[in-house]
Amino acid sequence: MGLSRFDTVKHLIVRVEHDSDLITFITSLAKSNGLKAGTFTAIGALKHAKIGFYDQEKHEYLEVRLSDPQEIASCIGNISIKKGVPFVHAHAVLADQKGDVKAGHLLEGKVFAAEVHIIEFPQNKLVRKNDEATGLSLWDLELAISSLLYERVEDNWLREKSRIFG
Ligand code: ZN
Repeated sequence: MGLSRFDTVKHLIVRVEHDSDLITFITSLAKSNGLKAGTFTAIGALKHAKIGFYDQEKHEYLEVRLSDPQEIASCIGNISIKKGVPFVHAHAVLADQKGDVKAGHLLEGKVFAAEVHIIEFPQNKLVRKNDEATGLSLWDLELAISSLLYERVEDNWLREKSRIFG
């Protein structure tokens, strides 16, 4: 198990550009705002989408294309750092015009309209590293904890410094 504590948060409310790809849009937003750790939710509608199912034996995503318009009934995800740059991981429940749903790992989603709420953990950095057992790139939480501890030490030092030196 890995565990990390996040004490401070910032909120970002975003209207996603029409015709952009949802994952690409959030990724570039994370890059331009220097987001290193966060979670998000999104609702809205997609013109078409591609979702994935992770084959646990073969360690690869099986893809399902949804070529018709979809409501984003629910989309949740997170932002962390993979190979030095922000990486967006999102899952979505998508509903067609009959209300029938398909759900999975969101690979692509052409946005008709979407509203995103990002919760950023500005003092922290979540880093992914390859995990042999799953073949996935998972959070390296020991590293997250040590960066958090480092900040605590630094905070304590600053507090102590201002107490002593004013
Ligand atoms: Zn996933």
